[in-house]
Amino acid sequence: MSTGTNNWNPEKSATLYGINSWGNGYFRTNQSGNVMVTPMGASGPSVDLYDLTQDLLDRGIRVPIMIRFPDIIKARVQQLNSCFQKAFADHSYKGQYCGVYPIKVNQQRHLVQELVKHGKGHGLGLECGSKPELLVVLALMNTENALIICNGFKDAEYIETALLSQKLGRNTIIVVDRKEELKMIVDVAKKFNSRPKIGFRAKLNTQGAGKWVDSSGARSKFGLTSMEIVEGVEFLKKEGMLDCLELLHYHIGSQVPSIQSIKSSLKEGARFYTELHAMGAGLKYIDVGGGLGVDYDGTGSSDSSVNYSEQEYANDIVSVLQALCDEKGVPHPNIVTESGRFLVAHHSVLIFNVLGVNDLHRHEPPRPATKKDPTIMQDMQYIYEKVNKDNINECFNDLTQAKQETLQLFTYGVLTLEQRAWCETMYFTIATKMVILARATPDTEDIQAELGKELCDTYFANFSVFQSIPDSWAVGQLFPIMPIHRLAEEPTRSATLADLTCDSDGVIEKFIDTESGEPKETVRVHQYTEGQPYYMGIFLTGAYQEILGDLHNLFGDTDAVHISLSEVGYTIDHYVPGDTVTEVLTYVQYGRSEMVDNVRQATEESIQRGTITKQEAKLLIKHYEEGLSGYTYLEEAE
Ligand SMILES: *Cc1c(COP(=O)(O)O)cnc(C)c1O
Repeated sequence: MSTGTNNWNPEKSATLYGINSWGNGYFRTNQSGNVMVTPMGASGPSVDLYDLTQDLLDRGIRVPIMIRFPDIIKARVQQLNSCFQKAFADHSYKGQYCGVYPIKVNQQRHLVQELVKHGKGHGLGLECGSKPELLVVLALMNTENALIICNGFKDAEYIETALLSQKLGRNTIIVVDRKEELKMIVDVAKKFNSRPKIGFRAKLNTQGAGKWVDSSGARSKFGLTSMEIVEGVEFLKKEGMLDCLELLHYHIGSQVPSIQSIKSSLKEGARFYTELHAMGAGLKYIDVGGGLGVDYDGTGSSDSSVNYSEQEYANDIVSVLQALCDEKGVPHPNIVTESGRFLVAHHSVLIFNVLGVNDLHRHEPPRPATKKDPTIMQDMQYIYEKVNKDNINECFNDLTQAKQETLQLFTYGVLTLEQRAWCETMYFTIATKMVILARATPDTEDIQAELGKELCDTYFANFSVFQSIPDSWAVGQLFPIMPIHRLAEEPTRSATLADLTCDSDGVIEKFIDTESGEPKETVRVHQYTEGQPYYMGIFLTGAYQEILGDLHNLFGDTDAVHISLSEVGYTIDHYVPGDTVTEVLTYVQYGRSEMVDNVRQATEESIQRGTITKQEAKLLIKHYEEGLSGYTYLEEAE
C-alpha cells in the first residue's frame, strides 16, 4: 500500500469511489475534500455533507443518522415526467403519462407526503399492495384525478374500501391479481350500485432479468394466465361490465438491468392490451409496473446497474406501444408506470462513524527464535530473514504452510499458547514485509491479492446492516459507500466493514471497484486515529431498506432528518428520533416499569446481604433507566 502523497486531490477521490457515476449529479466532491449534495445539479444550491453532519451532531442528533433530501425526490419526479413528455413529442403519441408511486418501496409518512406534493403538477398517483397500504393511500392522496392503483391479494373488506373511495371522487382502479377477486369486485359493485374501475394483471411469459426475475412467468405469484383473462372477459361481458375493464397491468420485477427485457415484456403486454381492446374492453391504461432500475455501482453492466437511461426507458415504451397500437388500429393508451426504486433510492444517505480498527499489519518482529524453540518457530524466523524479491514465490508457499502447521501443532498439544502467539505475530510480520516487497516486484499480483486479503483492516462501524441496508445481507446488493470527508487526502488503507451486531453476517465485503468494474471485498479508507471522528456514508438507501430493516440484536431505527436546500442554506424540515431501547423492547413484549422493578428488587436484596452499597445501587438503577431511554447505537461520551 502506498503512503499518502501530496499529489492526491478530491477529483482523484471522486474517480476512486465512482461518485460522479452513481451520484447522478446529486452527489459530488468539493474542494474542501468533502461530499457535497446538489439536488438540482452543480448550478443549484448545495450542502456540504460533512458540515451538515457536524451541525446535526451539535444539535444533539446522533450518528448513525439517516439524512433525507426531499429536493432529490422532487428532481426525480420531474425527471421521469419530462422523459415521457419528450418521448410523446418525439413519437406524436396521443396518450397521457400517469406515474404512480408504489408506497411499499418506502412508506414513511413525510416521504409519501413529499411525493404527493411534488407530484401534484404531474398528476402523480399512488399504488398500494395491501389493505394497510390502501388505508395510507386514502389518507394521503388528494391530487385531483390522480390514480390510486390497488394491487396485491384482496379480501371483501379491501375491495369494499377501494370501491367506496371512488364515491369520494378518487380515481381508484382495482387490479385483479387472482381470478377469485373478480367475482368479489362485481358482487361489491352491485351491492353499492356503482361502476367499478377494474384492472387485470397479466402473467407474462417473458422473464425479466436480475435479482428479482421471479416476478413474471407462469409460476409467478400474481396475475392471470391467458385463459383466466379470457374467462374474466366473458364473465364481465355477461355481467354487463366489460366497459369497466380500464387497465391492463403487468410487472416483471424490480431493478431490471437490461432494456432488452423491458422491451420484450412490453411487446407481450401490449399484445394483451390490443387483444382485450378488440374483445370490447373499455381499456384506457396500460400499466407497465415497476422495474426501472438505479445505477448503484456506475458500471452500466452489472445486476446493481442498468444498461439504459430513463430517457431510453421512456422512448422504448412509447415507441413500442405506438407501433403496435397503430398497427392494430387501437387508440394509444395512457401509460402508467409504478416506478418506486427510481423515484426514492437516491434521496437518503446513512451517515455512520467508525468506532475502531482491527489492523493486522506488523512492522516489528517478535523476539528472535533460538535453537531452544520448536522447529516451526525457527523455520519462520528463517523465512522472515531471507525473504527477498527473488525468492518471494517460494517464501510465500513456505509461509502458507507454516500457518497451517502452527494450527495443527497447537491442536495436537505440541505448541503452547505462548508459542502459538509468537507464530501468529511472526506470520503477520512476514506477511507485511512480503506485501511491501511484492508491490515492487513484477508478476506477483496473486501474492499481493492473497496477502491483501489476509492483512486487510476491519473498520468497526456504528450501524446495523440488518436495520439499515438489509438487502446487502439478504440479496447481496451493492450500495455505494465512501468517506464523506478527508477526500483531499489519499486513502491509504483497504478495509472491510463490520457492523455492531454480533452476527458474522453483519459485515460489508462488497464494494464498488471503479478500476475493474467488478465488485471487490474491500473499500479504500483513510488511516483511522483514535479520538478523531471518521464519518462514512452509505448512499442510495432510499428504496426498500427502511421498511425491510429489522431489529436484529435490538438495534432500532436510526435518527432521521429531512433537509431541504435553498440559495441561502438549508433547513431541517423534520427530525424523526430513532427508537429508544424501551421502544425496541416493547416490540418483544418487555415492559419498562416491570424491568426496572425487577432490577430494583435485586439491588434491595443485595443491600440487605451487604454485597452492594446504597450509592452503588442508586448508580446502577440510574444507568439502567438511562440505558432504557437511550439510543440503541453506541453514543459518544459527553
Ligand atoms: C414492488 C412493485 C413495484 C415497484 O417496483 P420498482 O422496481 O421499485 O419500481 C411496482 N409494481 C408492483 C406490482 C410491485 O410489486
